[in-house]
Amino acid sequence: MSQDTDEGQSESLSYGPWEPVIGLEVHAQLLTNSKLFCACSASFGAEPNAHTCPVCMGFPGVLPVLNERALEFSLRAGVATGCRIPPVARWSRKNYFYPDLPKGYQVSMFDEPLAVEGYVDIDTPDGLKRVRLTRIHMEEDAGKSIHDAHENHSLIDLNRTGVALMEIVSEPDISSPTEAGAYLRSLRSIVQYLEVCDGNMDEGSFRCDANVSIRRTGTTELGTRTETKNMNSFRSVERAIDFEIRRQIDLLEDGGRVVQETRSWDADRSRSTPMRSKEHAHDYRYFPEPDLLPLETSSERVEEIRSELPELPRARRARFVERYELPEYDAEVLTARRDLADYFEAAVGAHDNSKGISNWVMGDILRLVREGHLETALVIEKWPVSAEHLAGLVRLIDDGTISGKIAKTVFEEMHDTQDAPADIVERKGLRQVTDEGAITSAVDTVLEQQADKVAEYRAGKEQLLGFFVGQVMKATAGKANPKAVNEILRARLAPS
Ligand code: ADP
Ligand code: MG
Ligand code: ZN
Repeated sequence: MSQDTDEGQSESLSYGPWEPVIGLEVHAQLLTNSKLFCACSASFGAEPNAHTCPVCMGFPGVLPVLNERALEFSLRAGVATGCRIPPVARWSRKNYFYPDLPKGYQVSMFDEPLAVEGYVDIDTPDGLKRVRLTRIHMEEDAGKSIHDAHENHSLIDLNRTGVALMEIVSEPDISSPTEAGAYLRSLRSIVQYLEVCDGNMDEGSFRCDANVSIRRTGTTELGTRTETKNMNSFRSVERAIDFEIRRQIDLLEDGGRVVQETRSWDADRSRSTPMRSKEHAHDYRYFPEPDLLPLETSSERVEEIRSELPELPRARRARFVERYELPEYDAEVLTARRDLADYFEAAVGAHDNSKGISNWVMGDILRLVREGHLETALVIEKWPVSAEHLAGLVRLIDDGTISGKIAKTVFEEMHDTQDAPADIVERKGLRQVTDEGAITSAVDTVLEQQADKVAEYRAGKEQLLGFFVGQVMKATAGKANPKAVNEILRARLAPS
């Protein structure tokens, strides 16, 4: 996944008399340096098993020590999504056997989670929709089994074991694949704004399990659901849900029934296959974690976190429309990422032409981002054109120093050299010619050379004006002010 991160898929899907019911469970990796209960690094991409210690490998007799930052981050997410924070949350052990789970259990939360009853707002063709959150809880990640590296063996990498996650569980309020995509984009944008998760679906730091059932439109009883895993892009999530809805419709319409199970998405074949029959909570033998204290959160702490929240994406988007008089669409694109919105605002702060600056960001900058197949965050971080330089470029257009056409050349040069736009204009002699005398003499030269065309024009072939403008621009290497060229040409060509 890369280029499909920011753009919504808005095909409208119809399922006849069937209504999809979708609830999403999102696992977001918290942006802590170390793991949830030990000092091992939580960074991605190290040599297998380089980031391990007796605690995360589950040696007997070791004790977990809570990473306070992970708690802080999860509380921040809970407060930002309107959750109620119960005064006490408790850790539980979720017991199951799997080769990549050395302890034989995952430390998670069960009946007393960290945050409950929140919401995420999304836009739908029918207007604003509020998707309720059931809960947010913390847990540790499992390791990774690698089945395709060796012919006869499976390999285990425990670098991810014990990494801090928060799980965000929605109510089954989502009604289409497109809404699921909108929900995930909103939620990802929020956790990125909060700087608690990098939202990278490709590396698995933001992943989603999709619970899907269907029912006859107009009925209220929930159908049997399946859960699909292993989608690593927004588009895959949307496709996997659409596939599952159609699969269930076919089953029911053929007189069959849906079996509750966990399925795995295969992006290459655009289909899912069954992984295992659905486990139930009682299969996990949840019980309270004896080695960790309950988490007590005072209402003062909640208020303190609330007072420190940054402006969130939807609020920022509304402010962009209001304050900068931007179209809704521009505001949405610009505020989807905090760093991009910051970049825009820094540029507008340096030169007060919000629409002009928005056009550059929305156009040339995001085009280069997409062509580079990079996520916006990476590009803005490493983007060679500073906000001040972009502002400077727009200022040069606005004060008539350069034409919009020349600005494209300057922009490319800024991108390649990181030089200030004014320096580039001077160095390359790109200053727009506005001096009337210079333009008039260029016009006269062209008209002398094109005496035949001038006669045709005067005889009524007025569409030749564009031709003359082009010739003058050519004679001035694109630097003449096109408006002045037009005026002077008209005056010179007027019947004497
Ligand atoms: P589990 O933890 O076993 O997966 P939960 O009851 O916590 O089960 O539900 C997990 C997710 O499944 C939630 O997001 C919830 O909204 C969703 N869900 C529950 N029932 C249905 C259903 N019938 N159809 C679609 N989604 C459902
Ligand atoms: Mg589940
Ligand atoms: Zn460790």
